[in-house]
Amino acid sequence: MPETLKRLIDIISFLPWIWEKSATKLAFFLLKSNPNYLKNFWKSLDNIQAEIKECEVCFGYTDKDNNVCEICCSNSRDNSILCVVEDYLDMVSIEKLHIFKWKYHILGGSISPINWVLASDLKFNELFTKIKNEKFWEIIIATNPNIEWEATTMYIKENIPDKNIKITRLSKWLPNSGYIEYADEITLINAFKWRN
Ligand SMILES: [Zn+2]
Repeated sequence: MPETLKRLIDIISFLPWIWEKSATKLAFFLLKSNPNYLKNFWKSLDNIQAEIKECEVCFGYTDKDNNVCEICCSNSRDNSILCVVEDYLDMVSIEKLHIFKWKYHILGGSISPINWVLASDLKFNELFTKIKNEKFWEIIIATNPNIEWEATTMYIKENIPDKNIKITRLSKWLPNSGYIEYADEITLINAFKWRN
């Protein structure tokens, strides 16, 4: 096998969820692809970190020319509800439902001492500052249902600067291994509708 092809397979194998066999198949697919497709593919990869940056408000992503993402600067959102999620993919899954038009705050993970993730590693200070400065009447803690979820929820409840704000969590909707990212639409919609 040519060295260049071997190197390509090695690079593809480094991606998560890709086994060596799939990496080989993908490398051959790329080898035989239309050159224009390959050019676009390469350009997208080349731009991915240069053209995208973190939103200053929710900590999701936005185009490099904007400091704030389109959700955070939208006028048609309900500014009284803040949905707190662990990561950007959770926010994307909720937005795909096209039902809930609230604002978001991405923590960047959940408190997990076992994995050396402490509250100070996550965007809690930013969350509490946001709560202090804006008029929310509900904070939805939409983190995945596991032990870390409990610790994260407790931390928010104990440290929230305004104790009058209603704090809700998703209804007990999925088995313990369930994740927002993998939940089907109906289950997810119900989990939010029946939040308590
Ligand atoms: Zn944003």
